Parts: sequence; C-alpha cells; structure tokens
Amino acid sequence: MHRVSEISDPFVYVVFSPLIESDVKMIYLSAGVHGDESGATEGLLRWAESSQLQLNSLPLLIFPCLNPWGLKNNSRFDSQGIDLNRVWDQFNHPLIGPIIDQTNKLSLKLVLNLHEDYDGQGIYLYEPSTGGRPGEWAERILLSAELLIPRDQRKSIEGRKCRNGIIRPRPHKPPADGMPEALHLYLTHHCPTFTIETPSEMDLDIRAQAHEKMISEAIRMASA
Ligand SMILES: [Zn+2]
Repeated sequence: MHRVSEISDPFVYVVFSPLIESDVKMIYLSAGVHGDESGATEGLLRWAESSQLQLNSLPLLIFPCLNPWGLKNNSRFDSQGIDLNRVWDQFNHPLIGPIIDQTNKLSLKLVLNLHEDYDGQGIYLYEPSTGGRPGEWAERILLSAELLIPRDQRKSIEGRKCRNGIIRPRPHKPPADGMPEALHLYLTHHCPTFTIETPSEMDLDIRAQAHEKMISEAIRMASA
C-alpha cells in the first residue's frame, strides 16, 4: 500500500511507495505546479483511480497537486505570486526545498511533469536533449493520446523549436527566469524526463483522458 503524507503550509500531498526505503529506482509523477492547469491534476487522479494495481505495486513518488492554492484560485502562481516551476534551485524554499532534499536521496528512472498550455493547439511534450537522435519514448507517449487530442502542429512554442509535438531543449540553457522542476530533476537524475502539455482551452474531460493515457504509456515503458 502506498502512503500519503503532507508537506509544507498550505499542505501539499505526497503519495509514495514503501519501496522508497529500498534502493529501487523510483517513478516520479507530479501535476498542478501551475494551478490554472486543472486537466493535469484531474488526469493524474483518473490514472490513479483506474490503475490500482500499479499504484499498489510500482515504485511511485507522486505529487498530485503542487500548487493547491493556485488550483482553487485558477492561478498559475502560488499565493505569494511565485511561479513554483521556476524555483527548483532554491534549496530553502519552504515547499520545493524539502522535495529537492527528498528526491536527491533517491534514484529515479522516470520523471513525468504534467502541465497544460493556454495557447496550446494540441498535445506536445518537452524532452531534454543531449544531442543525437531522440529516443522512442516521446513519440510513443504522444501516440498514446493523439486519437483524443491531435498533436500541436506549431513549429515554435515558447520560443523553442517544436517538431511534430516534441520540443527538445538543451539542458545547459535553463530559462532566464528560474530553474524548472523538469530540468532540475533531469540534471540531478539523468533519467527519461518528460513535461507533458495539453491545450487548456479544450474540454476538461478529454484533456484529463489524454493525460491519463500518456501517464499510462510512459509508466508502461519505464516498467518494461
Ligand atoms: Zn504549466
């Protein structure tokens, strides 16, 4: 059985497998670091509800909603006006600091950060690039959900080149306004790391289903 505990004030839930105490490589899932992206938290919840077997047996570390104030108030930022996805180099941050601390002690085999994009026209994802050809996982994750929501066909998203829904940012070039969760975890753990995006102007039910499919596919590959 997985355990649930609370960190920070206002509290944030974390769900973790007892395997966290062994040297097993963990799967890190998080959603809701931006509160105005409700399809991501909803999708993760649905995945958990429909995946009881995996939930009970896999080495999971789940942060189902990193910004509950933002979710309640439909805000990207937290109650202090901070973008919690830009403080992952601030070890004394009251919420993110302890998560950095906890995850630094672990070995991770997959990181999935679930997001939504207000300007999004379809599903897309970020996968840090170290050069060379992309792996298969990014493609498979998008394939698993594109019957629900087609891929975003924009060639450039947030100033980065996007090819058929896949953005491969260079890890040595963090955004000027601060360190994101995915990049911090990638630089620390060097494991497959995906930031998944759905278009937040679409129907919530479809967006949640798309997240559920993509989580499921990524976990299937990481557990194979
Ligand atoms: Zn976001």
